[in-house]
Amino acid sequence: MSRTKPEIHWLPRRTGAFHVPPGAAPSAVVVGGGIAGIAAATVLAERGVRVTLLEKEAELGGRAGGFAEQLPTGERVQMERGFHGFFRQYYTLRALLSRIDPKLSMLTELADYPVLGPGGEVQSFSGLPKRTPLQVMALTMRTPHLKARDLAQVNGLAALEMLAFDAERTYARFDHISASDYLASLAMPERARRMLFDVFAHSFFNPEAQMSAAELLMMFHFYFTGNPEGLIFDVVNEPLGTALWRPMASYLAARGVRIETAAAVTRIEHTGQKIGVEHAHGTVTADMLVLALDVGGLQAVITDSPSLQALWPNVSAMRATHPFGVLRLWLDRPVRPDRVPFAGTTGIGMLDNISVYERFQGESARWSRDHGGSVVELHAYAVPPEASADEVRADLIAGLHAFYPETRAARIVHERFLMRGDCPAFPPGGHARRPQVATVLPNVVLAGDGIAAPVPCALMERAAITGFLAANTLLAPLGVMPEPIRSVPSQGLLAPPSFLRGKQPRSLELDEAAQ
Ligand SMILES: Cc1cc2nc3c(=O)[nH]c(=O)nc-3n(C[C@H](O)[C@H](O)[C@H](O)COP(=O)(O)OP(=O)(O)OC[C@H]3O[C@@H](n4cnc5c(N)ncnc54)[C@H](O)[C@@H]3O)c2cc1C
Repeated sequence: MSRTKPEIHWLPRRTGAFHVPPGAAPSAVVVGGGIAGIAAATVLAERGVRVTLLEKEAELGGRAGGFAEQLPTGERVQMERGFHGFFRQYYTLRALLSRIDPKLSMLTELADYPVLGPGGEVQSFSGLPKRTPLQVMALTMRTPHLKARDLAQVNGLAALEMLAFDAERTYARFDHISASDYLASLAMPERARRMLFDVFAHSFFNPEAQMSAAELLMMFHFYFTGNPEGLIFDVVNEPLGTALWRPMASYLAARGVRIETAAAVTRIEHTGQKIGVEHAHGTVTADMLVLALDVGGLQAVITDSPSLQALWPNVSAMRATHPFGVLRLWLDRPVRPDRVPFAGTTGIGMLDNISVYERFQGESARWSRDHGGSVVELHAYAVPPEASADEVRADLIAGLHAFYPETRAARIVHERFLMRGDCPAFPPGGHARRPQVATVLPNVVLAGDGIAAPVPCALMERAAITGFLAANTLLAPLGVMPEPIRSVPSQGLLAPPSFLRGKQPRSLELDEAAQ
């Protein structure tokens, strides 16, 4: 197995026909219409299963979805739950989206996403080599505040762990340590650490002190050191609902999926062979069930469903992490022409990033052209739970004024502020208790970005991978071919080979993807 090439996994195993046997079409209910639920529904429907997809909100997309917003200037636009970056190594998510457009023409590459520091520092991630460890060396050399004498102080052994990811070894050695303790152990100058790592660590919504170091090392591997695509991401060139989820809903409907929105599931009755799902508009009965919910939604449904109590021991340990804040502003004047579409920020208040929407999204570009203004979005992740919505909003605006001073004079034409707490926590020591896709009930599976995945992945890609895997797990007993799952290499370049650790090679049936 190569340590630098993408891999294809056939999970559970490559076997059988593409479709369920004719005349025997089983039925499935997928609860939750975020990426994980959409991914599961797609594979099940393509293989001939009769699927009902139930979503609590009015639109599909979940945390990557949107909702209508009426502007005082007359337009009805789409507000999103927040800016999303679609990385090139999100192979499974891209495979899902290729169902609606094989060329993925709804995605546009962002040339750079710099990190801005409080003293005018800029850390650029553009143009880095794609090969490991060349990209690490290039990034280190261009980092402000990281001089040769600083490098001599850095804890090399701790730093090398970023190149040595191996799921078994990394979780065994680092899951009980916090990300902040691991980062402190690098002994890197404070300002360099902030520019290089703090924005990255925060992007997973968890506060560093309460996040597992093993999860952080997995993220380094997935996004940087083990990623053959380079640090490049794409953005969606129209609102996420318009560009992705409505076309995806049409794709599913054309394959017979019954989609019910505004259909919050309240209770599930599992009687062995059959499963009854009660929701806001009635009850659906099916042979199989996918629970593709956020942490709070999953725990609430299981709590209220006595026949699903067998799932509770695993699911009860899950937690949502600290809240995040998203503030979108429609300003009466443009930001400076040299402002990039997306910049990470560090060192000033809670602000984690600034997006300038008219630079990449058609709907905002049209508003900006018609009114001469800017559409700016500000994010704060891992917000301290004691911070009020007003405090977070005021802090985000102060951060915008500090980084983009030209906005101080701007009038806010319209704004929408969201503060939610529905992203999963990855606490130290949590890995062993994280629920898997398969459950103790053979016809019930879990999916979502808080569910354990068998390959390195995170966020939207984890939602898509666990969604495909959930469908594969239900299809396997029917003798139906699984959907392949493509991933970055399972191990880092410097991970010790398994024979040196006295372990058998992993039992995944695994092919190397054609480059
Ligand atoms: C501000 C922000 C920015 C982000 N940026 C990025 C990014 O740049 N890159 C990236 O990869 N990821 C990003 N993410 C993370 C990404 O959005 C999530 O990882 C992904 O959308 C999770 O998908 P999911 O299907 O697992 O969960 P969800 O999207 O949460 O889906 C769960 C669904 O279940 C529904 N539900 C809950 N209870 C019920 C019920 N009782 N009945 C029926 N339905 C119910 C919910 O309404 C929801 O639609 C970001 C998230 C946020 C909040």
